[in-house]
Amino acid sequence: MQPLMVAWRDGWSGRVPLVVQPASPSELAEVVAICHRTRTPIVPQGGNTGLTGASQPHGDDSEIVISTTRMNRIRAIDLDNDTITVDAGCVLATIQQAAREAGRLFPLSLGAEGSCQIGGNLSTNAGGVQALRYGTARNLVAGLEVVLPDGRIWNGLRGLRKDNAGYDLKQVFIGAEGTLGIITGATLKLLPLPEATVTAFLATPSPSHAVAWLRRAKAALGEAITSCELMERACVEVARKHDDRIQDPLASVHPWYLLVELTGQGAPEELEERLLPVFEAGLEAQELVDGVVASSAAQAEALWRIREGAPEGQRREGVSFKHDVSVPISQVDRFIAEANAALAQRFPGIRSFAFGHLGDGNIHFNPIQAAGEPAEAWQGRLPEVNLIVHDIVAGLGGSITAEHGVGRLRIAEIRRYKSDLELEMMARLKRCFDPLNLMNPGKLLDADLIAAAEG
Ligand code: FAD
Repeated sequence: MQPLMVAWRDGWSGRVPLVVQPASPSELAEVVAICHRTRTPIVPQGGNTGLTGASQPHGDDSEIVISTTRMNRIRAIDLDNDTITVDAGCVLATIQQAAREAGRLFPLSLGAEGSCQIGGNLSTNAGGVQALRYGTARNLVAGLEVVLPDGRIWNGLRGLRKDNAGYDLKQVFIGAEGTLGIITGATLKLLPLPEATVTAFLATPSPSHAVAWLRRAKAALGEAITSCELMERACVEVARKHDDRIQDPLASVHPWYLLVELTGQGAPEELEERLLPVFEAGLEAQELVDGVVASSAAQAEALWRIREGAPEGQRREGVSFKHDVSVPISQVDRFIAEANAALAQRFPGIRSFAFGHLGDGNIHFNPIQAAGEPAEAWQGRLPEVNLIVHDIVAGLGGSITAEHGVGRLRIAEIRRYKSDLELEMMARLKRCFDPLNLMNPGKLLDADLIAAAEG
């Protein structure tokens, strides 16, 4: 058997001789133990929605894929403890739904939530649109169950809110991209289900004005701000061009927009009343120039469709150069301005295209090739574009991957942007858990780095 594994986007694919889909942690552990004995490398795979090629085999027939898709049980909900315990293969939207049915919120939320699995979310430390308020996946975990590279099962499903008895081992596996073990279960934190949601679409002259307004809004509204998404005008245009359901929400055109969501207890009118003076103060200070509040769930959905339509629309505009970076929030404006200026000088005609989670300083900076030019003329330019963008990010104290991880996509680049000491510590950790380098080899850390950490 030679199944062809294909990733959601960007053409990562590879053949494997075998895909195993265990139905339980013990079955999965047995397979891993066999791989350990036979020195067979393993690619753990969840929903396969990752964007860095990390859940894809290399295609040289040396690896097998272990998929958690059949491990999809909600194991338990503890309402006193405010936790839900699930199999790693549970689809994120299923967990959200189970929490809602129990009168609670599981706040991790991202565009791929109908397909991605919690094991993948934890292994990539996913962020998403509510990280501003609730943090990334890492913040939402109370316990983990992991099959180690030798096939032993570590049961860390303690579900404790406080536990200082030594190293917090679960955190080592979160964001490890399947390189240290396979997560088979998780105890996740639940939160109160908000009664009210208010969604607003605001126009702002620039990212620095947007940051100033966000500072004001955080001071006035505190935790009520759940999302704060920044979009430049091009995102609205491209989203509209490729999806005729999308309308311009404001009568006039502006260079930048914020999509803001507030949630809380009580009536939506009360939440809206809290937003109004902050909006007006923003207008007075010229941080904002216009805005609209959704008056129904359908209108809120239509506003979110703009944000969600931006990446899809961009894909149809020709070659785009995707960057998932973070910088300190105070440096967002400077980053976008410097990166655009440097690229425009080197590649005349390149089109600016930026959106992202402003509240986390996480910008999807995805410039698009010049309009009307053949794609072939732009296809080979990615390494140079990356170098320009990522050097600016590094100079501002940022990270070259805020959400999506390293995988195969950034494996060569992290050598440039992490210190030797950081790389050595990471490689030593890898050797400690997986001395045979069987767990997702060639992802996150290359074999040379791991070998160099031996001495
Ligand atoms: P996979 O793609 O299957 O795997 C991802 C990594 O985790 C691989 O390294 C894999 O080996 C490893 N892995 C998977 N399962 C396990 C396991 N059980 N144990 C150990 N390792 C495992 N990401 C964000 O952070 N924020 C976003 O807002 C966001 N939006 C997206 C929108 C769209 C439309 C798409 C397609 C992707 C988006 N992503 C986003 C990226 C992606 O959805 C996330 O990275 C997601 O967390 C991956 O989950 P998955 O189950 O698909 O994992």
